Amino acid sequence: MTVDAEHAERIMQELYRMLPSVNELLLTERIARLTQAHPRDAVVSATRRALEAIRSEIAQGEHSHKMLAIRLADLPAGIEAELGSPFRFSLRPVINATGVILHTNLGRAPLGTRAIEHLVEVAGGYSNLEFDLDSGDRGKRDVHVERLILSLLAAQTGNHHIAETHRAIIVNNCAAATFLTLHALAKGKEVLVSRGELVEIGGGFRIPEILLASGALLKEIGTTNRTRLVDYEKAISPETALILRVHHSNFSMEGFVERPSLRDLAELGHRSSVPIFEDQGTGLLHPLETCGIPAEPTFYASCTLGCDVIAASGDKLLGGPQCGILVGRKQYVNQIRKNALFRTFRVDKLTYAALEGTLAAYLAGSADEIPVVRLLSLPADEIRRRCEQVAGAIDSRRISAEVVPVEGIIGGGTAPRARLNSSAIALRDENLDAAALLRALRKQDPPIIARIEEDRVLLDLRTVDPESDSYLARALGSLPVYPHPEAND
Ligand SMILES: *Cc1c(COP(=O)(O)O)cnc(C)c1O
Repeated sequence: MTVDAEHAERIMQELYRMLPSVNELLLTERIARLTQAHPRDAVVSATRRALEAIRSEIAQGEHSHKMLAIRLADLPAGIEAELGSPFRFSLRPVINATGVILHTNLGRAPLGTRAIEHLVEVAGGYSNLEFDLDSGDRGKRDVHVERLILSLLAAQTGNHHIAETHRAIIVNNCAAATFLTLHALAKGKEVLVSRGELVEIGGGFRIPEILLASGALLKEIGTTNRTRLVDYEKAISPETALILRVHHSNFSMEGFVERPSLRDLAELGHRSSVPIFEDQGTGLLHPLETCGIPAEPTFYASCTLGCDVIAASGDKLLGGPQCGILVGRKQYVNQIRKNALFRTFRVDKLTYAALEGTLAAYLAGSADEIPVVRLLSLPADEIRRRCEQVAGAIDSRRISAEVVPVEGIIGGGTAPRARLNSSAIALRDENLDAAALLRALRKQDPPIIARIEEDRVLLDLRTVDPESDSYLARALGSLPVYPHPEAND
């Protein structure tokens, strides 16, 4: 062990020794009092859970002696609060003050009003999910959004025959859509993929592994940085079932790089009778140029450029519920639909309702009803004005707040180079360091999720509903009183 590692190990042991035992805590006056109002077992297990949480914080290196002392002083209040709410949902709304619009950990896209209203309308009763109201016979759940998707594509591509040539189906997410397409169209046959596109999308979704699991055979094309059309051309054989194109959604390559355009690749596919499947990912329907983000390809551009099957996420830039949208030429989509695994990726009526509501807003020309579209186009000076208002309204002697310019990211593995000009409230607390303040904000109800930069906690209001601005100011003005750290030294 190095000297540094020994030192860190010794500190960690000291921190663990600062922890009281469950029994010691139960004997303190405050916790003992709780056993009069609550079953003893409940108090014991809440105490145990609270100590476990602190142990894991220590293990993750989150504590210094000072910090731990503050945390321990707060422990009885935490246990009491937990016991005080006999039942609390595990899944709860939070205030996203990170500025990251598509935050996968915070549930990606918030839904728009049309989607929510339709969801509520459908959720509480019965619906014609798989029932044809004209014939009175069994129907297919696909129909509820297929028509809308194809109408949108017809309007945006100018191809008004698209409903005759194409179909659209919905599965659980884009990962499932990609897997299912490979499985249904290429099992036991070759799929051509550029080495520059053998990527990990996030959450363990790796293109080579998905391909392997689907039963398709990966045929690598070109090199990591350069793949040319002729590389694909030379690799096509009677064994080739598909050409897979993966959108570089969560990374960018610069320098000595090259790959054929989607149009050229699609032309090659058509000349050689090999279908092109694009894992498009973002589902973008509303171009981002108006938000100052150039060259992020739209979902319908993939269609215009001649892709035969396209897979996209419902809850990224499209701004709808989690789902995977598959659009493509009838012959291929029918084949995917017939595959036995299609049934295992089937989505619920709630997803159809939310997606139908979202697509209806686009079709009505009201894309700015979609929260993701609205948040992307919020002007920076409006965010700054709100930050100044909230900062000015914080009534606290210990918190100092300053409004600073920041650059936000879209998140969710989309447009990694795009930067959104925004503003944030930078907070310092006289009593707590930035990590402890961040934790105190998470303890609020609803919890406030923020980030740390240069030892300050930043609240980027781009992703905060203006109706929550006054709550933020109030919560910051009334943070629980912690003992001053110096008092524990
Ligand atoms: C995000 C993404 C996926 C995964 O989408 P999920 O809906 O989260 O399963 C797949 N491919 C690309 C290109 C993506 O950007």
